[in-house]
Amino acid sequence: MPHYVVGHKIPDSDSICSAIALSYLKTTLGEKTVPARLGELSPETLFILDRFGFEQPELKMSYAGESLYIVDHSERTQGPDDIDDATILGIIDHHKLGDITTSTPLEIWVRPVGCTNTIIKMMYDFHNVEIPKNIAGAMMCAILSDTVVFKSPTCTTADIKCVEALAEIAGIEDPQALGMEMFEVKSAVLGTPVRDLVLRDFKDFDMNGNLVGIGQLEVIDLSIFDEMKADLEADIAQLKEEGNRHSVILLLTDIMKEGSEMLVVSDNADLTEKAYGKTTVDGKVWLDGVLSRKKQVVPPLQESLS
Ligand code: MG
Ligand code: MG
Ligand code: MG
Repeated sequence: MPHYVVGHKIPDSDSICSAIALSYLKTTLGEKTVPARLGELSPETLFILDRFGFEQPELKMSYAGESLYIVDHSERTQGPDDIDDATILGIIDHHKLGDITTSTPLEIWVRPVGCTNTIIKMMYDFHNVEIPKNIAGAMMCAILSDTVVFKSPTCTTADIKCVEALAEIAGIEDPQALGMEMFEVKSAVLGTPVRDLVLRDFKDFDMNGNLVGIGQLEVIDLSIFDEMKADLEADIAQLKEEGNRHSVILLLTDIMKEGSEMLVVSDNADLTEKAYGKTTVDGKVWLDGVLSRKKQVVPPLQESLS
């Protein structure tokens, strides 16, 4: 039986490209490993797979009795539902350490960098394995996506160096231009059902016993949401009820203005006041300079709910 590599639910480009890149590395090292996914792919990820000639990884939700590597997360709420019945061989991640635990020894590569693929590049270098051209291209795009083309405060010099090295291997002259092309694909939200948009990049967090769902849409110009904002607000209110959540937040991130408008529904009326020092008015609040859910949105919220 092959081993699997799987990223988080509602997979993003990092989760998918990590699964592809790590599977190739492990298989090359003599351990038959295949990439998998825990959900449907976003237009951005499909763009990357198409650009570098990859098929979608296998859709596989259940891992009971299997052995797997977990990439791009370490939170139970974000992984496979039956993870307790699987053997976790390793965790490769760049988020805060979550609550996944194991009963057997495992390999862990966790680094405070902008993207899981930056860590996987370190693994290739560690094992002295050459990265194929198309895998290098996909890894590079994942880093450009996660770091918002180097604008995110999560971006480190390791990420930038890694993009340069991968671009060289993939034969891509202007990685940042390709990054912007990706964000244009990401910004094409018109015509997409509202629920699909809310869930496009959505994560649940257990914050001291409170279930908090946080979605994010990163676009080149926020005015694209003008017509649909009321529908988005209604939908997150519904999502909060359906999932018995304490709060649901949708971040509408403007990557050019470098800030996010937060749409908020919460049991705590003063949620954003307490966490970010800014009051929610009519269910909305603008947070200047906020681009990163992981680094700028989750930690203050977690703190204020503890
Ligand atoms: Mg991710
Ligand atoms: Mg990531
Ligand atoms: Mg992201």
